[in-house]
Amino acid sequence: MHALELFDLSGKIALVTGGSRGLGLEIATGLGEAGATVAITARRANFLASAEAELRSRGITPLVLTCDVTSPEQIADSVAATIAAYGRIDILVNNAGIAWAAPVETMPLDKWRQVMETNATGCFLMTQAVGREMIRAGGGGAIVNTASYVAAMGSPTEIIDAVGYTASKGAVVSMTRDFAVKWARHGIRVNAVAPGYFDTRLSSGVLSQAKERIEAMTPLRRIGRPGELKGAVVFLASPAAAYVTGHILAVDGGMTAL
Ligand code: NDP
Repeated sequence: MHALELFDLSGKIALVTGGSRGLGLEIATGLGEAGATVAITARRANFLASAEAELRSRGITPLVLTCDVTSPEQIADSVAATIAAYGRIDILVNNAGIAWAAPVETMPLDKWRQVMETNATGCFLMTQAVGREMIRAGGGGAIVNTASYVAAMGSPTEIIDAVGYTASKGAVVSMTRDFAVKWARHGIRVNAVAPGYFDTRLSSGVLSQAKERIEAMTPLRRIGRPGELKGAVVFLASPAAAYVTGHILAVDGGMTAL
């Protein structure tokens, strides 16, 4: 195959959780630009509506589904709706995520649970539901999880004080490797991207307080720019990564290379 054809996702069906804004919307855009048919999910209809408008303005017509990744029932409905619309799912991007900042000494248990439930359990539940369908269809598939650089290192409190978030991303990294090994026999590749800092709703609090420190501790001396994550996800989802599974791809300006 020609090198550029290796990145072509024409004819593929992709489901992106947390696709209504931020990195998930960028990822959905990238997959659509590479030729995939895209379904996006999130909890709130207002964000989904503006994401749909943005995707349409770029020539991508998404299937839009309201789905809370902590709900097995809503996940089952979203998977069923995507398969009803397109017949199968070839690519899953587990990107939905939340964070809660508080000192470890006083981190509220309910916030710890909510973050773990969304970022770790949500990733597990969605992977399980979509993976079952990929196995049933017998055509393999590609799953890409959005982890984070925080899974690879401890964080000073003045940068990010969110131990539940860090732990949840560690779980995503472990799950990525374990699912990759377990489902290789089904032709399902499971990888993750581990972003550094990108300016989104989720990171706005951290960046308003610590952007300069973050830039100083990043070898490339800046945070990620819009458009700098989607290529990594397209790569992992595409035939260009046909022999790549269980990999955690850092997109962090070199933070974890230090
Ligand atoms: P945003 O807050 O902008 O986007 C988060 C997305 O997840 C939204 O679409 C949101 O929609 C959705 N979401 C949140 N909770 C749920 C839920 N329970 N069920 C379904 N969807 C949900 O943040 P980012 O774009 O920054 O984050 C995207 C991913 O990237 C996250 O996993 C985050 O941890 C990760 N990441 C981000 C970094 C950054 O610097 N921005 C760095 C490293 C990793 P809604 O609220 O309507 O449900």
